[in-house]
Amino acid sequence: MPLRQLLVLPGDGIGPDVTAQALRTLDWLNAHMDLSISYDIADLGGAALDAHGVPVTDDTMDRARRAHAVLVGAVGGPAYDAVPFDLRPEQGLLRLRAEFDLYANVRPAICFDALVDQSTLKPEIVRGLDIVIVRELTSGLYYGEPRGIFESETGRKVGLNTQRYTSEEIERVARFAFELARNRRGRVCSMEKANVMEAGALWRAEVEALHRKEFADIELTHMYADNGAMQLVRDPKQFDVIVTDNMFGDILSDEAAMLTGSLGMLPSASIGKRDANGKWFGLFEPVHGSAPDIAGQGMANPIACILSLAMALRYAFREDRAAETVERAVQTALARGHRTRDLMRDGTARAATTIEITDAILKALEEEFQAA
Ligand code: NAD
Repeated sequence: MPLRQLLVLPGDGIGPDVTAQALRTLDWLNAHMDLSISYDIADLGGAALDAHGVPVTDDTMDRARRAHAVLVGAVGGPAYDAVPFDLRPEQGLLRLRAEFDLYANVRPAICFDALVDQSTLKPEIVRGLDIVIVRELTSGLYYGEPRGIFESETGRKVGLNTQRYTSEEIERVARFAFELARNRRGRVCSMEKANVMEAGALWRAEVEALHRKEFADIELTHMYADNGAMQLVRDPKQFDVIVTDNMFGDILSDEAAMLTGSLGMLPSASIGKRDANGKWFGLFEPVHGSAPDIAGQGMANPIACILSLAMALRYAFREDRAAETVERAVQTALARGHRTRDLMRDGTARAATTIEITDAILKALEEEFQAA
């Protein structure tokens, strides 16, 4: 099998703690499942600023361009709070997202059986939850022009942002969502405010047109985003894939994240172009930040990063079997009671360290491999 390349950017705070564990998992998969995925490690964020004076170097950008996927830990921390805006650690991540035109942000919200009690919602509402939110990431209200704070004719200040979407922008993110649904339970719910916004009306029309043309096998429904926000807490299991614009997606994906409990469990992907073999280039990263309060102390939960690696395997490398194996091993480790501190409800039991919970995941992988 040809060698495939993953660029790993551990970043700051707990970023290096958790990416190290994702790489132990990848080492295991390479050795036992013949994946032939090699990796290369570079600085990002504050670590890059300290070493090279910029939050991401041109060399790292070139290495990312040559890679099939990028795995990020986290960036930022109090040490960089006083750094000028254009050199801030987040700018490194933003440059990667912008230059690779990563237009679809994908966030699964999965409730692991062993963690049903972590959610603030009743167990029966979240048990078995497995949904995905696809958020358009490069257009809409956060990018539309004109924007700014202006002075009106009467001398009053006016803050202005523009919700702007082209047909192409809507179509490409909708296509990603439909294809995702085809490999899942075959259902897409598109959310907008077509009742009060022209951009929402166009969104709905384009999603419907694409559905008619290429995805008639998928069940498509539409929901106004405000109702969607309500339905996500009332009965989240009614959904399979939700596709929505940048701003509604920002809000709805955070809401969905809370259905599952801890921040340390949530992976994400930002997807860009697709190659001739159907593989997407993407940047894969935990939803959490650099958690400076626990960095380097062996307390971080590495599962969000390990599940981000599983997403890279699925979308960028088309290694679905390896991705499912990792996800099952995480389930098994949790079901056996292994918990990092963030997953513990009371302080009586000793929490697993970052390394110990990964050991438990690798043990589950090993057992499954022996049994097969
Ligand atoms: P955070 O996600 O870093 O931490 C919030 C809380 O959750 C902290 O108490 C932390 O200890 C805990 N936590 C987070 N991830 C955990 C994990 N894997 N295991 C155990 N506990 C975990 O958010 P914050 O404190 O608001 O931000 C800290 C820094 O991270 C800031 O500089 C912020 O700008 C940056 N940040 C970066 C990203 C990113 O890299 N994508 C995202 C959000 C915040």
